[in-house]
Amino acid sequence: MLDVCLLGSGGMMPLPYRYLTALMTRFNGSSLLIDCGEGTQVAVKEKGWSFKPIDVICFTHYHGDHISGLPGLLLTMGNADRSEPLTLIGPKGLERVVTALRVIAPELPFPIVYREIEGAEQTFEMNGYRLKAFRVNHNVLCYGYTLEIDRAGKFDAQKAKERNIPLKYWSRLQSGEEVKAEEGVFTPDMVLGPPRKGLKLTYTTDTRPTDSIRKNVPGSDLFICEGMYGEKDKAAKAKEYKHMTFYEAAELAKEAQVKEMWLTHYSPSLTRPEQYMGEVRKIFPQAKAGKDGMSAELKFED
Ligand SMILES: [Zn+2]
Ligand SMILES: [Zn+2]
Repeated sequence: MLDVCLLGSGGMMPLPYRYLTALMTRFNGSSLLIDCGEGTQVAVKEKGWSFKPIDVICFTHYHGDHISGLPGLLLTMGNADRSEPLTLIGPKGLERVVTALRVIAPELPFPIVYREIEGAEQTFEMNGYRLKAFRVNHNVLCYGYTLEIDRAGKFDAQKAKERNIPLKYWSRLQSGEEVKAEEGVFTPDMVLGPPRKGLKLTYTTDTRPTDSIRKNVPGSDLFICEGMYGEKDKAAKAKEYKHMTFYEAAELAKEAQVKEMWLTHYSPSLTRPEQYMGEVRKIFPQAKAGKDGMSAELKFED
């Protein structure tokens, strides 16, 4: 099961009733954070989730509303005597930007591992999931992310018997381990059926609609996408500032046939996103206006 929480839903600046856009996931004892603007740690506290299992923090880009909360969060983690390494992932310039922010958080009791994204897309395998960064189109270098969890096929005892695989190796093979034994080398595919549908989450913010989004979003159980403007007359503004309208986000969700889409990263001037959702759902019925603290448990089918 993958726990997903949209910690905040605001763009540009935090408001009294709206934190900045950030996403947190929990899977198998390890937590991931994407973006960390001013106030993100308050949003985590408000949700009641813990900082301790956060072992990866990813950044879409280095505008203040997506990274200015980092030094404070690092200090909080340090004050909790964290000693485990923390991995940071982000566009080119990651170490330079974080080092500059760390002038106010210089001494930390844990190491930071920097993984700078190279090229148009890059995949990172860790903690039992696959994280893929893909380039999007904003006024600075910016990436979207997909998080995927694979699911192996069902155990097929008949298949194992036909291949004369000794019973004592079945459970290891079933859990995905390759077994080198006196009788030979056995691989999991010898006892498992075809892979089953896993889980997929996509997060894109601060971008125009792009082919990279169209390519990476299909198959998502949940697609969290920026919607800076709900007003139809702001389409030109969205283009100019490299953001999206609700309707552009809905078109992407519709095209990709995702299961559900949440909008986020609202302009501070947009006080009631819900009022536009009727129009948005005409394009894509499974659309929701994201709200601070909105969460979902993504589960394997059946
Ligand atoms: Zn932003
Ligand atoms: Zn931005």
